[in-house]
Amino acid sequence: MALFDAVKEKLANAGKTAIKASNEIIEVTKLNLLVKSEEDKIKDRLLEIGKAVYEHYRDGKPVEAELSISCEEIAKCEKIIDELKQKIMEIKKLRECKACLAHIDDEALYCPKCGAKVE
Ligand SMILES: [Zn+2]
Repeated sequence: MALFDAVKEKLANAGKTAIKASNEIIEVTKLNLLVKSEEDKIKDRLLEIGKAVYEHYRDGKPVEAELSISCEEIAKCEKIIDELKQKIMEIKKLRECKACLAHIDDEALYCPKCGAKVE
């Protein structure tokens, strides 16, 4: 009977160890989610700082030399995006309403959205 008791005790201990391990996994997962949440908040704030610096640059105000290099790169990207969007408009035979910026048919005389006369 001693052997049976020993096996029984080993199984009970293995169960306790498994429960302890899974509780640790749950705790670590919760903590990792909290870390991720704080990291996301940092990313949002960094993005806001970056946008503020870029708007500062775009308004012609002075920015640090190392930041102005990144700002110039962003400005180049914006220019490329504008050119690409213009090409898409040409392919789709559309143009932009000067009053409301809606995309309207190239041959329309009036904007169907705001009614402005198309020039
Ligand atoms: Zn319009």
